Amino acid sequence: MVAQILDGALVASKLNTETAARCADLTARGVRPGLAAVLVGDNPASRTYVSSKAKTCTRLGLYSEVVTLPAETTTAELLALVATLNTRTDIHGILVQMPLPAQIDAQVVIRAIDPEKDVDGFHPVNVGRLALRQEGFVPCTPAGVLALLDHYDLPLRGQRAVVLGRSTIVGLPLSLLLLHRDATVTICHSRTTDLAAVARSADILIAAIGRTAFVTETFIRPGAVVIDVGINQVTTQADVQAYFGDDPARLADLEKKGYTLIGDVHPRQAAEVAGYMTPVPGGIGPLTIAMLMRNTVLAAERACRR
Ligand code: NDP
Repeated sequence: MVAQILDGALVASKLNTETAARCADLTARGVRPGLAAVLVGDNPASRTYVSSKAKTCTRLGLYSEVVTLPAETTTAELLALVATLNTRTDIHGILVQMPLPAQIDAQVVIRAIDPEKDVDGFHPVNVGRLALRQEGFVPCTPAGVLALLDHYDLPLRGQRAVVLGRSTIVGLPLSLLLLHRDATVTICHSRTTDLAAVARSADILIAAIGRTAFVTETFIRPGAVVIDVGINQVTTQADVQAYFGDDPARLADLEKKGYTLIGDVHPRQAAEVAGYMTPVPGGIGPLTIAMLMRNTVLAAERACRR
């Protein structure tokens, strides 16, 4: 079997076209949706994520503001910034890029964001709303996974879904979303015993653990849908060959950047067993940004209604 690729970049581009139209409509009515992204310190990965979010904002017509604070910023200083952003009428979404430096209490900062501007969906009010199936903001990566499954008309009701990872930003909210869509959900984590056997029971297997190519063929039921949320780096030619074979694009990527991206799923092994699978990159990553844009426009639409 050669798995069909679920093209996240394609679905993200379709969603972005819809979001841009909604944004244009709001802007014509005098409300341009605005997203403020706060970056503390100089973590290179965080910087890349924030810049890519800001670029997408601009491309879709949203107002974007990036506030960069020094690595030694205190919790009080960050709270003061969040308080200002909460009151600004031109800012509809606030995103504080994680991880924050160790001296800052991330939970206190998340709780300080106005839940109506919490487009990441991390505030306890929005977590509660999601659990209770009430209107709020759904975290972007889990929402992106659902959008992808829906685009390809992959059924969820009655399906056995296994989610590897229970983080509050991916595994846990994704498990709730799948449950709300009538899947039978099993959540696995670092203390799960016989992980491969549990994973093999899945019609839909979702990997969100942050471990390079951890999910091998023994984890995958033949024909299963495999969604790879993980983003990891491969930095040696031997590893590139082990995971991707002699793929010239991957070898060129390694040569140019010093690494190539890989998920939590072994790409070559999964391709031989799964029915459907997401690539890394070009799978869930672009959908995460698309959902952030959509949540920001949604926040602006709701602000107009209030
Ligand atoms: P966390 O580190 O917060 O959580 C990882 C989860 O995986 C934990 O629940 C942990 O278990 C579990 N886990 C770790 N190792 C194992 C193991 N060997 N066996 C079973 N379970 C294990 O990560 P995130 O949820 O934030 O991210 C997961 C991955 O997704 C990362 O690669 C991250 O880069 C990527 N990511 C991608 C995004 C995208 O846009 N595509 C967005 C967000 C994240 P325990 O709870 O017991 O510690």
